[in-house]
Amino acid sequence: MTIAHRMRNYMERASWIRKMFEEGARLKSLHGAENVFDFSLGNPNVPPPPSVKEKLQAIIDKPDGSIHSYMPNAGLPATRERLAEYLSREHGVPLTADHVVMTCGAAGALNIVLKALLDPGDEVVVPAPFFVEYGFYAENHGGVLRTVPTQSDFKLDLDALEAAIGLKTKVVLINSPNNPTGQIYDADSLKALGEILRRKSRLAGRAIFLVSDEPYRKIVYTDDPVPSVFQAYENSLVVTSFSKDLSLPGERIGYAVLHPEARDGQAVMGAMVLANRILGFVNAPALMQWILPDLLEESVDVGIYRAKRDRLYGALKEAGYDLIEPPGAFYLFPRSPVADDVAFVRILQEENILAVPGSGFGGPGHFRLAYCVDDRTIEGALPGFARALEKARK
Ligand code: PLP
Repeated sequence: MTIAHRMRNYMERASWIRKMFEEGARLKSLHGAENVFDFSLGNPNVPPPPSVKEKLQAIIDKPDGSIHSYMPNAGLPATRERLAEYLSREHGVPLTADHVVMTCGAAGALNIVLKALLDPGDEVVVPAPFFVEYGFYAENHGGVLRTVPTQSDFKLDLDALEAAIGLKTKVVLINSPNNPTGQIYDADSLKALGEILRRKSRLAGRAIFLVSDEPYRKIVYTDDPVPSVFQAYENSLVVTSFSKDLSLPGERIGYAVLHPEARDGQAVMGAMVLANRILGFVNAPALMQWILPDLLEESVDVGIYRAKRDRLYGALKEAGYDLIEPPGAFYLFPRSPVADDVAFVRILQEENILAVPGSGFGGPGHFRLAYCVDDRTIEGALPGFARALEKARK
């Protein structure tokens, strides 16, 4: 075998995604892309705010070659300082540049955090459904993913989490607003989780870290801001990116930030910075770091996503689908009308609708729709959604 056994195994595990892409491509070539309703990808379709282009143009025109240079592995000091000021307000704790590492997206941040914290066999406890890449990321660094069910509305099940967190747990990884469910975890449940983690850390004789993955923090439809884990538990980290809130997923820019009172904070920061280097990221993309300080208060027009959510949620509910109204992110996660979610996704494909089976996210019996798509796609798909439900009920 030329390639590593583990990679062959991963490629098999990931093959259902490829098959879905292939089926989508086949349908598009057969019927024309405009007649296929693709809800399978979380690729933001709302443009970045105009200020992104303005700032980029201004920095490119600067007669200073050093904008493209290598830099400290943690990122540009001035960018980290500005970010720390902003994050101190957002999370309500005093942060400095020394608590922030710039990364290649949220994915890069998750990988440096897990590299810094995990020893072989350490468990990463994750509420399900969850972002499908977490399993790969945990295994990249010798960790073992342990999934824990959530409640029927996808809120945290604290009893189930408490039962799952044991002597092998090193990290509890949560994602709010959530992909694929759109759910947000409230401040009380985060506080209760913090208490559980304090107790369990004492029992284990080591700190269990709470890692909060938050790329959708600004994509919310509630009046209240998303509660911060930093208000709930000191041994915590936030990882995130500008992929969704500034619509810059291809630019690979994000960061990890550590609670200022985390145990062995300096060592954790040092390990993350070294991980950025030895994982081959070296540093996060330079141009993005130059423009970020002036963009921290900005975001895409969330009203556009809200209108899409309202339209698709309302129409599916009216058609008879069983689903929650998600308070954040840009996904719906309806219950599949038949137990086998893969079978229902095939029925949707017969209607030229592309969705992702929930079992791929550890949420069997559901399917995910990414509504970061044209309004035309939503409107065009509605009759097909209604017909698919009728077919499934026969
Ligand atoms: N975490 C979650 C929950 C996501 O949905 C995504 C991307 O879709 C990521 C992390 C990765 O984000 P990035 O593209 O910034 O690496």
